[in-house]
Amino acid sequence: MTAPGVVAPPAVAPASVAAPAVSMTRRYTFPAAHVLRHPSFSDRENQRVYGKCANPAGHGHEYAIEVTVTGPLDERLGWVVDPSVLDAIFDAQVRARFAHCLLNDDPVFRSQVPTAENLAQVIYASLAESLADRSSARLVEVRVVETRRNSFSYGDVK
Ligand SMILES: [Zn+2]
Repeated sequence: MTAPGVVAPPAVAPASVAAPAVSMTRRYTFPAAHVLRHPSFSDRENQRVYGKCANPAGHGHEYAIEVTVTGPLDERLGWVVDPSVLDAIFDAQVRARFAHCLLNDDPVFRSQVPTAENLAQVIYASLAESLADRSSARLVEVRVVETRRNSFSYGDVK
């Protein structure tokens, strides 16, 4: 009950509850190398910030990329997206660009450090548009598994 003369706070809309939906996650792997080095830092600063990951000789990872999509279920085929379509998009947009490469050589990583966090965002952007063009599925999340201890997600991260 609100006292006379006191304006009641606006009613708060109940939090919307998303309806359940089907998603599909597909995992891809490829090897790539990188050097964690901020272009405006000195070698010494990079060494201090990134430690051995700033070693100019670089180091490699066997990246695992988990791509999650959602969308209307194809009632007849029973799937969200044809996996071969997602595979073709991944191969063209990501594998052809980054596999067996030094990530620092890619133009996008001339202005940003090729951390797995940034790689997740770049891969997300690379896949989202092609997926929208070729499928009714929508990209939900890209997860980059860099090591056994570290993974990084970009998208509708819960
Ligand atoms: Zn690394």
